[in-house]
Amino acid sequence: MPIRFDWTFDELRNLYDMPLLELVSQAHGIFLQFHPAGEVQVCTLLSIKTGGCPEDCKYCSQSSRYQTPIKAQALLSYEEVMHEAKKAVALGATRFCMGAAWREIRDNKQFDEVLRMIKGVASLGIEVCCTLGMLNDHQAKRLKEAGLYAYNHNLDTSERFYPTIITTRTYQDRLKTLDCVEKARLSVCCGGILGMGETIDDRLQMLLTLCRRNPHPESVPINQLAHIPGTPLQNQPKIPVWEMIRAIAVARIVMPQAMIRLSCGRVGMSYESQALCFIAGANSIFMGEKLLTISNNPVDIDEGLFQVLGLKKRPAYANGAK
Ligand code: SF4
Repeated sequence: MPIRFDWTFDELRNLYDMPLLELVSQAHGIFLQFHPAGEVQVCTLLSIKTGGCPEDCKYCSQSSRYQTPIKAQALLSYEEVMHEAKKAVALGATRFCMGAAWREIRDNKQFDEVLRMIKGVASLGIEVCCTLGMLNDHQAKRLKEAGLYAYNHNLDTSERFYPTIITTRTYQDRLKTLDCVEKARLSVCCGGILGMGETIDDRLQMLLTLCRRNPHPESVPINQLAHIPGTPLQNQPKIPVWEMIRAIAVARIVMPQAMIRLSCGRVGMSYESQALCFIAGANSIFMGEKLLTISNNPVDIDEGLFQVLGLKKRPAYANGAK
């Protein structure tokens, strides 16, 4: 199947509305053309600077605008980060993501320190990803030179729904940062969150924006909203797992080479549900105690998942050069 960049909204909607098993089996067939069967990448996501963020993302525990249970934490030390990265490697993680609750990168000592952390973690032989907010060309270049492999910057939802969730920056700001990331030849990690009150069409519009980018993002996290007490979205109804599965399957069909990451929202999901997400094309999970500030599945439960389903852990850099 050729890789396409000219998908239309109607095509995505028609895929989404297919009978579930037909959709999942089509997605699985495409998955097998581009990826080794049963291989799932383990990632770890560490918050290196927590809370106190000036942005107003309505789902986030780290915005200074909401009273959430999260305690602010200054930038971790190099030693603390390396300790966590080594723990991640021991779990079989081949991608280590570091997140800082910043609106944007500033050229200061803290950024220099993050560059040092990137160098240190990259020396362990794993993919290093960062999510540090908006950036410019020069900062993207410095990140690349430090050994960063990927940069995460999520679109979260459709352009139409975006201002309902975030008012302190625009969709165009997001896209501009993604362009800087691409220009610096960093691998793009960009996905969204389901269950924030958006429509199915909003989810598909977000996937359409991603699959019309050339190249497609190398990595597409599909998250389910975590209901954080104190945030404006705390009482949002939980979405059915079928909607996650359909979104994953459509993402897999329209972006066949991407790593589709079953990210936030796995806690409490049965092995059976997760198995369906993998058949639908997800091929990565986050392991470890926390996903930034949110509790994750206990490690032994996730090790059990690999055993029960007979999954193999994907090596680092399987998608290409460092
Ligand atoms: S999602 Fe990121 S930018 Fe938005 S409030 Fe949270 S830490 Fe800040």
